[in-house]
Amino acid sequence: MRGRVKTSELYSLLRARGMRVTAVRKAVVEELSSRRHSDAEELCQRLAARGVSRASVYRTLSLFERIGIVSRALYGERHSHFELALLHQPHDHLVCIRCGRVVEFECHEVDRLQAEILKEHGFEPVGRVFEIRGLCQQCRMKVAGGKLMHRATEKQR
Ligand SMILES: [Zn+2]
Ligand SMILES: [Zn+2]
Repeated sequence: MRGRVKTSELYSLLRARGMRVTAVRKAVVEELSSRRHSDAEELCQRLAARGVSRASVYRTLSLFERIGIVSRALYGERHSHFELALLHQPHDHLVCIRCGRVVEFECHEVDRLQAEILKEHGFEPVGRVFEIRGLCQQCRMKVAGGKLMHRATEKQR
């Protein structure tokens, strides 16, 4: 995966792939770049205000995902989140299933393993999804002793 690129370079990337930079595609890139992670539904609402239909948003997102501009970072319980993958260093996510908190982490060991796996299979990546779902520290404290505690975190007696 690549490191940081500028928003304007995303347009060159689209053109390089033989795709036109339409008003809709530009609007989606602009809205995505306005925050780190965008919830799909909320993105639709923001774009609806700019006259972009829900169908166009989803069509554009899946196109961007296919060519690796966007990564569907989080497959949460209810929502898909998207981010402009190429604008950030490769990173992965921890997602709290209780409060929805998203924690990003960079792990060189994961990157090293990825490189190894890609080499072994002769594979050229456009993105990766590595997401750990669970309870964040705050939520673990709130539910401590409750049913939500995972067995592995319970103290052995
Ligand atoms: Zn939480
Ligand atoms: Zn992220």
